[in-house]
Amino acid sequence: MLEHDKNIRNVISLIIEAGYQIDKEAFEFLKEISGRVDLNSLVKSVIEEVDAFPEKPLFITREMLEKKINEERITAMHELTGKTIQRLYAKNIEADFKVISDPTDKISATGSLEDCIEYFRSRFRKISRILRGRTDAKDAGNLVDALKAPENSKVKIICMVVDKRETRRGIFFRVEDLEAQATVFVPLERQDVYSKAQLILLDQVICVSASRGKNDLLIAEDLILPDVPLKKPNKSSIPICAVLLSDLHIGSKMFMEKEFRYFIRWLRGEVGGNIFRDLAARVKYLVIAGDIVDGVGIYPQQFEELKIKDLYKQYEEAAKILEEIPDYIEIIIIPGNHDATRRALPQPAILREYAEPLYELDRIHLLGDPSVISLHDVRILLSHGRSLDDIISSVPNMSFQAPDEAMKILLQCRHLAPIYGMRTLIASERVDHLVIEDVPDIFHAGHVHMMKYSTYRGILVVNSGAWQKQTEYQKEMGHIPNPGIVPVVDLQTLQVFPIDFTSMA
Ligand code: ZN
Ligand code: FE
Repeated sequence: MLEHDKNIRNVISLIIEAGYQIDKEAFEFLKEISGRVDLNSLVKSVIEEVDAFPEKPLFITREMLEKKINEERITAMHELTGKTIQRLYAKNIEADFKVISDPTDKISATGSLEDCIEYFRSRFRKISRILRGRTDAKDAGNLVDALKAPENSKVKIICMVVDKRETRRGIFFRVEDLEAQATVFVPLERQDVYSKAQLILLDQVICVSASRGKNDLLIAEDLILPDVPLKKPNKSSIPICAVLLSDLHIGSKMFMEKEFRYFIRWLRGEVGGNIFRDLAARVKYLVIAGDIVDGVGIYPQQFEELKIKDLYKQYEEAAKILEEIPDYIEIIIIPGNHDATRRALPQPAILREYAEPLYELDRIHLLGDPSVISLHDVRILLSHGRSLDDIISSVPNMSFQAPDEAMKILLQCRHLAPIYGMRTLIASERVDHLVIEDVPDIFHAGHVHMMKYSTYRGILVVNSGAWQKQTEYQKEMGHIPNPGIVPVVDLQTLQVFPIDFTSMA
């Protein structure tokens, strides 16, 4: 909300400073598209254009803005499809799809206390190993030795954060490793360390370099996160594309069926100009990051918002719609919190007993959450993104409008659900499948219903939005989603081309 207002205010002052006015229609239009379009660069290029007019207009109008958006869309398209493509390109290419990891058959949690302890040990070991792979943390020791060190000496340890207390003097962390516990103090005066400490989450595994204080106290001099190394991503050798989708919510009254059907017609090469059709012809994969259906009994009052009130029928309808997608396109689906499978992470694939019609389609591959797949050697980490809620509510300066920022926090923690015991349920598997062990080329999630993407240390981070109009719940929360925009990823360049189907259908 606030961010939208701020963006609009900024561009209005740009217009006024440039000596123009804006009419009501144009103002309404800006409000409508804010969140979907970079308002700042749009308005700047419109101003540039009208500045060059021999006779300058008084007003910036809606038509001027719309014209500019279309021009930019076409230029971007040209850049993306610079190569000449035959109409049946993807159809004639053999699929190169591998499942690298899928938790579905590895699930074993019994819910015992022992499992729970074993789960945290596994998390600790796995992330310690990642930390030790860093040059600045490879010499880290354990807490028992650090506590034996004389006062004022330098120590370095790997630990899990079990408690965090903010005081006027600084932040106190209670930390532990497999054998011992200690207190880490981050003084307010150490601004650089303090600002890192503010972002540290409970249950996160980190490396602390400190000087030894009294009793069990360690005074932090630096906090080191596992993070991802800077790297060059793997790319496909051919110009093949994957469409990333999420949160269809079929069965909900708010499912945007008209727009989704238009999207399928685009995939079939039936709509759009030549450039649009050329791009569609390169799509070989559709990757869906969960919430295929709206489910039943997911939240109070959901029943009134359902168009299809039976879970089996929701999956039947989903299969009917997905069947319309051209048959040479491989479809990969993981579950979300609305789907029919265990609620706790890691989630096994959507259960066959509910989704038989999906299982019957050969080219649909149902995997668990999280899964890693490879498309033409490009590694994609798939997770619905349930924990993004927790990250956005506990980390300062995070917002539902920028889920890609929250996804970067997960990469820095090297964990898909770093905080235990918030809204994200975590099953006590004896092996922690939620640790991000291998660095992906693309990290794809959904759940937040906000299409947003960016790059972090060479990784393409995409939240693929939704196909559901704003729900009552989102309205209450003040969250404005941007459904109906699809990111198409060129696997040869990892360039993203978003297509807005709300303005086309
Ligand atoms: Zn959803
Ligand atoms: Fe969701």
